[in-house]
Amino acid sequence: MIGEEEARRRILEAVRPLGERTVPLANALDCFAAQDYFARLSLPAFDNSAMDGYAVVASWCNKGGRLRVTGEQPAGPDRKLRVGRGEAVRIFTGAPCPEGADAIVMQEDVTRDDTDIILNVDVEAGDFVRRRGCDLAEGQIILQRGERIRPTTIALLASQGFADVIVGGEATAAIISTGDELVNPGQELQGGQIYDSNSALLSALLHGIGVSATAVEHCRDDRESLGEAIKRGIRNNVLIISGGISVGDHDLVKKVLCELGAKIEIWRVAVKPGKPFLFGNIGACFVFGLPGNPVSAFVTFLQFVRPAILRMMGATNLELPQVPAQLAVGLTNDGDRPHYIRGKLERGRFTPVGRQESHALFGLKQANALLRIGVGESLKADEMLDVQIWDW
Ligand code: AMP
Ligand code: MG
Repeated sequence: MIGEEEARRRILEAVRPLGERTVPLANALDCFAAQDYFARLSLPAFDNSAMDGYAVVASWCNKGGRLRVTGEQPAGPDRKLRVGRGEAVRIFTGAPCPEGADAIVMQEDVTRDDTDIILNVDVEAGDFVRRRGCDLAEGQIILQRGERIRPTTIALLASQGFADVIVGGEATAAIISTGDELVNPGQELQGGQIYDSNSALLSALLHGIGVSATAVEHCRDDRESLGEAIKRGIRNNVLIISGGISVGDHDLVKKVLCELGAKIEIWRVAVKPGKPFLFGNIGACFVFGLPGNPVSAFVTFLQFVRPAILRMMGATNLELPQVPAQLAVGLTNDGDRPHYIRGKLERGRFTPVGRQESHALFGLKQANALLRIGVGESLKADEMLDVQIWDW
């Protein structure tokens, strides 16, 4: 049995970023930038109006003054208008500022009198003008290599005229759930059978990092069907197998993997839940064996599988987000493995929820955060510490 940190280190050393690719901007959500991106344009790209109103020269304006409206500039092509002494140009939000103008007066702040306006306010230079480059300067870095592309990143890239983006490789993954007791949801249960929930769990967890499973199979605990399923699964970059990796007579996954020439890099990790975790490879496919108990599958996916796949996809930050929380109750770990406690983080307070046992799926469903307690550690109620979150 190896330590959790050691297991993570070995996994992240084994997996490598996949080759990069160019994708249309619209398909880039949750991909990772494969290079740094710099602003091609300043934002705004030209001085423009923040309001519907009148472009004026502030130093020639005073409250009660009268100005002649000499032209109109809507948003769109620059009509190259000028504002002179005693003049104003009708202007609309987003329209380029006419030459000479240094302020915009809101239309609500003037009285229109045929071709003139009368100012009902004082005007200062800069009023309601969005200055070129005030948000972003040309050449500034806008996206770093390895950074996740979010909806707002896509918007910023679009504002810079990028139609596509170079991102990290696409990881393909297959899931096999093993167990003679498993039945697919939607079918009828016989005594002793349970529904396969890990397939759904693992598919959804993959989806959460932008990966859709190419195949999700249920497989019985027999060497032959397991062997066939694994042979199909290893056509992917990643194969996730749930169940059958412990020490019972019907836990055949490790045996069958070895028969198929797998190199088993890790089997059994000091982590609770999740001790029987397995990691290895068959050729170019990385194989993760997760314990069948749903909470163990969940925790080992987040701690070991997630960072590995993110690394393959070119991500820089492989960690789950951590947030500071106040512990609602005292907790002690008397065991011999670090323990991930499932809990609810609400208004900055972390409260353990449900039975802290590896089969307790309802408890897990109520949780939104994990608290890691090291071996021999004692935590006091009201203590502040970091917890990991996955629902954000
Ligand atoms: P195993 O790791 O195969 O020894 O399974 C450990 C426990 O997890 C057993 O109680 C199994 O019935 C349960 N289990 C295994 N696979 C699944 C699954 N896909 N969905 C829900 N429970 C499972
Ligand atoms: Mg089993």
